Amino acid sequence: MQQRNYDAVVIGSGVGGMCAGALLVHEGYKTLVVEGRERLGGRFSTEEVEGFKLVTGASLIHHSGWVPRVFKKVGATLELRDCFEVSYWIRGDEHYIPMGNRVAALFDLINKMEVDRVRLVGGIAKEVATQKIQGALGRAISQPDKESGPTFREWLLRYTDNEDVHAVFDSMCVSFLLAHSYEIPARSFFHFMATEKGAGDGALCPQGNLSAVQELARVVETNGDTWTDCPAKRIVVAKGAATGVVVEHTGREVEIACKAVISNAGPRQTVALAGSENFDAGYLAQMRVKLRASPVVIIHVASDEPLCLEGGEHGGMLVAGARRITGAIPLTNTCPELAPPGKHLLHLVATPATTLAAMDAEEEIRQCTLDLEMIFPDFQKKNGRILKMEPRNIDHDLPLGRTWNGPPFRMPRETPVKNLWNVGDAAYSAFGGTSGCAETAMAVVEAVKQSVGH
Ligand SMILES: Cc1cc2nc3c(=O)[nH]c(=O)nc-3n(C[C@H](O)[C@H](O)[C@H](O)COP(=O)(O)OP(=O)(O)OC[C@H]3O[C@@H](n4cnc5c(N)ncnc54)[C@H](O)[C@@H]3O)c2cc1C
Repeated sequence: MQQRNYDAVVIGSGVGGMCAGALLVHEGYKTLVVEGRERLGGRFSTEEVEGFKLVTGASLIHHSGWVPRVFKKVGATLELRDCFEVSYWIRGDEHYIPMGNRVAALFDLINKMEVDRVRLVGGIAKEVATQKIQGALGRAISQPDKESGPTFREWLLRYTDNEDVHAVFDSMCVSFLLAHSYEIPARSFFHFMATEKGAGDGALCPQGNLSAVQELARVVETNGDTWTDCPAKRIVVAKGAATGVVVEHTGREVEIACKAVISNAGPRQTVALAGSENFDAGYLAQMRVKLRASPVVIIHVASDEPLCLEGGEHGGMLVAGARRITGAIPLTNTCPELAPPGKHLLHLVATPATTLAAMDAEEEIRQCTLDLEMIFPDFQKKNGRILKMEPRNIDHDLPLGRTWNGPPFRMPRETPVKNLWNVGDAAYSAFGGTSGCAETAMAVVEAVKQSVGH
């Protein structure tokens, strides 16, 4: 077997892995990033179909999040274009939420929904109920841990049984926390609102996510390498410490000796690569209990005119009360570069009725197709065409999230094996999605400095 030496090896080139790789090089470590797939980026990458640049997962990067901070720290360029505007599709009606105080605007909308419903059944207006929800939510967000028991839906039922209001919050739970309102503990929602404040400062990469990832690769390659089509086969453990990684490179096994191994492949794969005998029972039990991969269907639609946010607004639409679809972003409203000239690209995300069990992919495709017809009545007229509809089940290695968003569902970044760490969206962070992944990379590189030195 061939032998090579680096200071650090990163397994996987998702946003967490690439941030870790670039930060390690920035700190002076000669680093190798190995990626099993043919292209870098994992769920933050770009796949070309008929000249359209499709996202492989994330679309929105948050200005206030950790990804821009890592780029800045390592001296990489991150081109972002604001995509802030929000509209809600609620059972067929579209409501635009103006910028400014979004929470107040959302409650105005909820209030209207409560008043409309009461009018229908001949009661008196329910502003009081809405004020109660708003007040209770404000108190809960300021003390997220006080509420220990119920799911978010059970918490909300204390204030309203209006199913339209529940649908709005369910869509928010699925989009931000990766689980339904009837699955996720209420405090996870309050924590999210307290830490990420609704994450209302999203932006898109105009040239596609892969070009942003390649900027990080450029940093890595100033004192290291990125190898694609190069799966890690084994993490070498000697006397309780990680000392190298065996990879398959150009058809041959190569053993890379190193001082630190950072795995971006998710804790389950990390354990499989290093051998479960090197992990104590407590760690393995945590992994079984905490990791709850969320299934998803990702839909990419081409059209001749925008199908949603038809005025060309730069933003996204939260979908409440449809069968499966919970969010839509007309990417080309903001970044026309992502489609051939004159064409439009819409990215949609759909979640099955439960995130806790494997989905029936065929049934989900059927439900999503019905949703597309219902949400976009002009689908045919605007020459709408599904470019790709991709169900990713709970056993897919690139799911919506490797676990629900919220500290109780995350694994520690450090492992029982010395000099072996996890980065990515299953590792502990107070933040979700790409932002959380970048934060785990920052924290792990600090830990490498402490543990390995130079
Ligand atoms: C549909 C969808 C929409 C999303 N929307 C957003 C959004 O708008 N904003 C946001 O912030 N987040 C969003 N997310 C979440 C975000 O995409 C993820 O949290 C993030 O990209 C995960 O990055 P990661 O670092 O965990 O690595 P991953 O993306 O999981 O990448 C891991 C990489 O490791 C590689 N790998 C695995 N095993 C091996 C091995 N043995 N050897 C070598 N390589 C290996 C894989 O091939 C992969 O490339 C979305 C996700 C999805 C699926």
